This record gives sequence, structure tokens and C-alpha cells, in this order.
Amino acid sequence: MNRTIKALQEITGSLSTPSKMPCFSYNTPAKACKTGSILAKQEGTVCSNCYALKGRYLFDNVQKSLNNRLDKLKKSAWKQAMIELIQRREKSGVFRWHDSGDLQSSDHLRMLFDIAEALPDIKFWLPTKEFKMVREVLQERKRPLNFIIRLSAFKVEQSIKSYAKRLGVLSSAVSNDKSKVSCVAYKQGNVCGDCRACWDSTVDEITYPEH
Ligand code: SF4
Repeated sequence: MNRTIKALQEITGSLSTPSKMPCFSYNTPAKACKTGSILAKQEGTVCSNCYALKGRYLFDNVQKSLNNRLDKLKKSAWKQAMIELIQRREKSGVFRWHDSGDLQSSDHLRMLFDIAEALPDIKFWLPTKEFKMVREVLQERKRPLNFIIRLSAFKVEQSIKSYAKRLGVLSSAVSNDKSKVSCVAYKQGNVCGDCRACWDSTVDEITYPEH
């Protein structure tokens, strides 16, 4: 018998719904980012001006949901319930991991690979600053073709395209120079609209404006 959506949400901590995205997402607290929380204390880094450490992400109810998702991620039932939840709810054909937060461990990434392999009709995108975890997992298994990894540059105005290419993944950058910004969301009410560049394996690097 199929489990109810409510039961699946209870096990996983549920999905998130960032207004910019054309799809569901998933998030954990930015304060729990392993690399990001170190970078957040350093001037000139993308994390020192993290959008997930301000605004609506600080509301009590949002913080409660983020912390709940982080707790649920540690449970053994999380992966299978997440497969079922995404399969039942995601109808857009794409899914974004972590509109807030980041990989907690290499095992976390292994679970995301398993989920992508179980749902081949959905294209996943993971932005991450956890380069070491990505390197470790890619040394032992192939990235599913429907799983796009974009390594995020640590510093504003930095490009890590060549490094990401060497690992066999893609990258993203942040710039204050609008002539370098390739993400079109800021020109269209801060929504993706028809753009799916983040999920596009032919787009080596995407540059977002600084928040
Ligand atoms: S590049 Fe396109 S898909 Fe990615 S965030 Fe910007 S508008 Fe959305």
C-alpha cells in the first residue's frame, strides 16, 4: 500500500518550495553548512553575504522546518521516503537540492546519487561547496547522468570552471558585474521562468548576481 504524502513528509521533514524555482527543492539550515559556516566569517566570500542567513530564512517557523529536515536526514528511513515523496510530488521534470544548506557528509551525497538513480525521469541539480565530498564519491562511483553537480565558488568574482571540469562536474560563480551575470532571474522578477540553465550539462558555469 502506498504511504500517504503526509507520512512521507513526516519521515523526510518535507520538501521546500522556493518562490524562484520551477520545482520543489529541499533545504537544511545554512548554519549547519560545514564549509559554508567557516566561509561565512570571512570577508569577500559568497557565504559572508548568504541569502539563507537573512530575510525569511530567519523566521521561527522556517528555522523550525530547516532544523527538522536536518534531524530527519540522519534517519535510515529518509532515503526511501524521499524517493517516494519526490516521485509523487515533482511533476516539472527537475528538482533542486539545497536552496539552503549543503551536503553534510559523503554518505549524504551517496544517498542523493541513489535517489537520482531511482528516479531517472527527473533531473537533479545540486549546488555545493563541499568539493572534498564530491571528489571522494566520484572516485568510487559514476555520477548519475540525471544528476548535475555545480561546485560553487568560495569568493565573489572567482571562477572555478577549470577545477570543476577536472572533477567532471560543472560550476557556478557570483559577480557584482552585471555584464558577467548569466542567470536571467533578476531580469524577470527573480524567477526562473522557462530557464533551466542550472540543470543543463552543456552550461559549464553559471554566474549569479550577489544577493
Ligand atoms: S540560471 Fe536559469 S535556472 Fe538557474 S537560477 Fe538562474 S534563471 Fe533559474
